[in-house]
Amino acid sequence: VTVVKCGGAVPHEPVCADLAGLAGRVVLVHGGGPEVDGLAGELGVPARTLVSPSGVTSRHTDPAMLEVVTLALAGRVKPRLLRALAAAGVPAAGLTGLDGGLLRARRKPAQRTVRDGRTVLVRDDHSGRLTGVRPRVLRVLLDAGFVPVVSPPALGEDGAPVNVDADRVAAAVAGALGAERLVLLTSAPGLLRDAADETTVLDRCALAPGGPVPYAASGGMHRKLIASREALLAGVPRVSVCDGRVPRPVTAALHGAGTTLE
Ligand code: ADP
Repeated sequence: VTVVKCGGAVPHEPVCADLAGLAGRVVLVHGGGPEVDGLAGELGVPARTLVSPSGVTSRHTDPAMLEVVTLALAGRVKPRLLRALAAAGVPAAGLTGLDGGLLRARRKPAQRTVRDGRTVLVRDDHSGRLTGVRPRVLRVLLDAGFVPVVSPPALGEDGAPVNVDADRVAAAVAGALGAERLVLLTSAPGLLRDAADETTVLDRCALAPGGPVPYAASGGMHRKLIASREALLAGVPRVSVCDGRVPRPVTAALHGAGTTLE
């Protein structure tokens, strides 16, 4: 099994068409940051950011934003992917982490965030960390020849949905399925030595189990390296970050394009 994660700015059609020969052997995971921001704007829900004392930024998922995240991912991004898969003749079925008990998570009850130079506690954030994957529903769909299309949210321990990072969902799903490969498709040619220069793609990058992730990659790429390390620790033998903007992005990734994490 291969787990492919499709980034928010990656064009859907080429990815979906490229999955045609892989039905029953591939799981597609997606996020959708741009669509969440877009829908929040349409609904008048302010999009806010949390900044940890160490400088890591994340979305502030207050109760209204949690609703927007669920609506945007399950109601907009996923149907668009399913339509593109159907157009490519790929049998597919959409799931969030709530379906079949797929993704469990623990909400962070209080988070430190820096606001106007001061560290304050935020208690209404409904994001959290994955605590478990129950891959049975994926196995049923794969065995029947479908491509499962998976996104956050996850199911919280208190029964309420919890927003989780889609790259880490992909890593955890790959680990739970015993996948041979995890491919993170994004809008960069791979991990760049210099984020501003697309010609500086690293062929390979070693991630030490306990140490910091290298190349102070900002924002999204930093999260991808953390997710990649989690996948490697979960036993996924091949993990790569690859360009999702090329004509046959999955085929290119499976043939060694992008950056291999090890
Ligand atoms: P996605 O939506 O595909 O999950 P993100 O936008 O969250 O991806 O993260 C990928 C982005 O991270 C790239 O488009 C790039 O702008 C940025 N980035 C920052 N540092 C690096 C780096 N060292 N190498 C590659 N991309 C980087």
